[in-house]
Amino acid sequence: MKKIVMKFGGTSLAAGENFRRMASLVSRYVAQGCKVVAIISALEGVTDRLLEASEEAKRGNLESVYRFKGEITEEHLAAARRSINDKHVREEVAEALRSTVDELEKVLTGIVYVGELTPKSRDYVLSFGERLSTYIAWGTLRDVGLNAQYYTGESVGIVTDSNFGEAKPLLNVTKHQVKSRLEPVLEEGVVPVITGYIAATQDGVTTTLGRGGSDYTATIIGAALGVDEVWIWTSVDGLMTSDPKIVPSAKVIPKISFQEATEMAIFGAKVMHPRALEPAMEENIPVRIRNIFNPENPGTLIVREQMVKPVDVVKAIALVKDVALVNVSGAGMIGAPGTAAKVFGVLGRNDVNILMISQSVSEANISFIIERRSLEKAVNALEIALLGRGLIREVTAEDDVCVVAVVGAGMRGTPGVASRVFSAVARRGINVRMIAQGSSELNISFAVKKSDGEDAVQAIHEEFRLDKS
Ligand code: ADP
Ligand code: ASP
Ligand code: MG
Repeated sequence: MKKIVMKFGGTSLAAGENFRRMASLVSRYVAQGCKVVAIISALEGVTDRLLEASEEAKRGNLESVYRFKGEITEEHLAAARRSINDKHVREEVAEALRSTVDELEKVLTGIVYVGELTPKSRDYVLSFGERLSTYIAWGTLRDVGLNAQYYTGESVGIVTDSNFGEAKPLLNVTKHQVKSRLEPVLEEGVVPVITGYIAATQDGVTTTLGRGGSDYTATIIGAALGVDEVWIWTSVDGLMTSDPKIVPSAKVIPKISFQEATEMAIFGAKVMHPRALEPAMEENIPVRIRNIFNPENPGTLIVREQMVKPVDVVKAIALVKDVALVNVSGAGMIGAPGTAAKVFGVLGRNDVNILMISQSVSEANISFIIERRSLEKAVNALEIALLGRGLIREVTAEDDVCVVAVVGAGMRGTPGVASRVFSAVARRGINVRMIAQGSSELNISFAVKKSDGEDAVQAIHEEFRLDKS
C-alpha cells in the first residue's frame, strides 16, 4: 500500500470540469489501497489576476475591486457547478466560496483606502487563488464518494519565515506539525486536500512560497509524511528536453536526477518550482511529473541517481526570460582585492538575487545577470555605494537580454560540449553577450539578446539532436 502526494497544477485545473478528472484519479488510487494527499493550485491565471487586482487597488480604483469580485465569484461558482453534482455539497462549497470572496473584497478595499500595498498584504491577496480552488476540489472529492478534509497551508502546519513573496519554510517545525496533524487522519482513510503555494509565519501571518510554489508545498508535505512518491500532475507529459512552446519537437525525459532537474528549474523550466526538489532530495522521495490529460503516460521520474548515457551529454535546454545584465567596470579594479566581494556584498544587502557571474581576465570588469525586476534597485545601490571611490568608473545595464541554459550531468568531463554549443549558436548569427559555466559542470549558460533567445534554444536542441533521443 503506497502513500502518495498528488499536486494538481493550475493548468491542469484550468477549465473547471477538470476537477472531475482530478477526483477520478484520486479515487482510482484510493480504490487500489493507496493513501493519497491532494495539493491544489489556483485556477490557471487567477494568481496573476489577483496580482493585477492588488495593483489596481493600490491605485485607488474601488470600481475595479467590485468588478473583480464579481468575475472571480462567478468563475469559481461556475467551476463548482460543473464539478459537483450533489446539491448539499455544492451549496456548502458555494457558501465557502462566497464568504472567502467577501474576505478578499475586504482586503482589497482596505488597500484602496490605505493606498498602500505592502509585501505582506500582497501575499494575503495572492493566497485567495488557492483557498478558493481548494474548496472546489474538496467538494468534488466528496462528490465522488471520498472522505475529504480541507486544509490550508497554515492549518496543516507549514510555517515559514516572513520573507513575503518568497517565504522559506522552517522545515523542522513544519515536518513535525504536518506529520502529527495528517498521519492520524490518513489512518482513518481521509483524503486531506490542501492549498498549495501558501503558508504562514509563526505568528499566523499569511505568506507565499514564490510563484509556482504549489510544487514546493507538495514536496514539503511528502517529506514530512515520508511518502513513497510525489506526483506533480500538470498539462504536459513530463519534464521535456526544452519548453514545448519554444521547441515543438521537444521530447519527454523519462528519467532524470534531482540535481539536473533542479538546474533546469532554476534556469527557467517553468514546469517545476526551483526549490521544490530540495525536501524530496533530502528524504530520497522520487518525484514524478505526469500529464492529467494523458494519465496512462508514465511521465518523468526524478530520482537520486544520475542516468548518463555516454551519447547523451546534453539533456535539456531552458530559457530564462525576465533578466537583465549589469556590467561594473573601471581600471581601479585591476589587482584590487575584494572588489568582487564589495559588489556582491552591496547586492546581497539589497536582496538582489544573482543568476550568473563572469569576470574578464583583465579584471577591469565584472558582469552579472539578475532578475529584471531588481534592475533599478541593483544599479542604484551600486552607484550609491561604489561610484566616486576610485575603484569603479561605470555601472551599465542592459534589460533586453535572456539566458540560455544547457543542462546535463554528462557534460562533466566531456570535452567539446561548449564548442558545439557556441558553434551552433554562431551559425545562426547570434551574438553571445556573456558566458558562465557552473562549477558543478551540470550546466553551461550564456546571455543573448532577448530577440535571439528562442532561436538559440532551437539551434542547440538541433545540434544535440534532442528530438531524436
Ligand atoms: P502547472 O500549472 O501545472 O503548475 P506550469 O505552467 O507551472 O504548470 O508549468 C507547465 C508549463 O511549463 C508547460 O506548459 C510548459 O510550457 C512549461 N515548460 C517550460 N519548460 C519546460 C520543460 N523543459 N518541460 C516541460 N514543460 C516546460
Ligand atoms: N498559483 C501559484 C502561482 O501561480 C502557485 C502555483 O501555481 O504553483 O504561482
Ligand atoms: Mg507550476
